[in-house]
Amino acid sequence: MGMNVLRVLLAMALAPLASAEVKVAVLHPLLGDLAKRVGGGHVQVVDLIGAQGDPHRFEPSAKELRAAKGVQLYLVSGKGLEPYLPKLKGMVGKDRVVEVGKTLPTLKAEVLCEHGEHAHVHEEDDPHWWHSIDCWRRAARIVEKELSRVDPVNAAHYGASAKQVRKELGDLRLWTEKELSKVPKDHRVLATAHAAFAYFCNEHGWKMLPVQGLNREQVASPKFVTEVADAIRKEKVLAIFPEKRSNPKMLKTVAKGVGVKVGEALLADGGDSIDAMFRHNVEAIVAALGKK
Ligand SMILES: [Zn+2]
Repeated sequence: MGMNVLRVLLAMALAPLASAEVKVAVLHPLLGDLAKRVGGGHVQVVDLIGAQGDPHRFEPSAKELRAAKGVQLYLVSGKGLEPYLPKLKGMVGKDRVVEVGKTLPTLKAEVLCEHGEHAHVHEEDDPHWWHSIDCWRRAARIVEKELSRVDPVNAAHYGASAKQVRKELGDLRLWTEKELSKVPKDHRVLATAHAAFAYFCNEHGWKMLPVQGLNREQVASPKFVTEVADAIRKEKVLAIFPEKRSNPKMLKTVAKGVGVKVGEALLADGGDSIDAMFRHNVEAIVAALGKK
């Protein structure tokens, strides 16, 4: 072995790992998947929430943030999902916090507020953009831009991998559409637990019928449950879907009352990966509603 080769090998061994160049923290269960795919070997992802975390309730503790030393970017979902954002920005610097959902298309949701006898409906941004594959394709470009901003040397790499991710997401969309086409048109109603699937339904021309509000903790009033039961009958819904990590008791009661079957639990707020969430949900929907 020549001296030069040895020197090169030694330099490689001593150089910091290429994988540790940019440290990115994620605060939504699916953003780690996107950051890893766009960042490739140049990004180290610090997953603060975990695949099982509930993004409606999660808030990073000061201790967790201190443990995530040297993070250059904090990826959050945005659209009002994280009430702790001003606090986070104050702690880590607002330039480091990226609301991936901020510039993505927004659907509005009607939220019922009940204060004792007085109830009113108001409009809010629906935060669940992660059920739109089109949103993910745009998000890949946003993450690419942010990584290129903090690590311009590897911008071409981020550009190429974001392009590849967008292609893969395009394939996922084609697969999703092909699968959903197995459900007859008049059964394309998604009756679920919390109102997480508006972006999904909007993207594929389905109707959404949630039994709860925008987050899992919101408990539906008896009046609301009666209205949902009526809607389920009217829309000739074949099945309603509980969700993983959520109590299906109320949903089962509604299903029993109306006489429809309960489908397999859907993944509403995350999963092991973007593809895994879509594939699981689409397969569960087609299994319950598709032509036999
Ligand atoms: Zn949700």
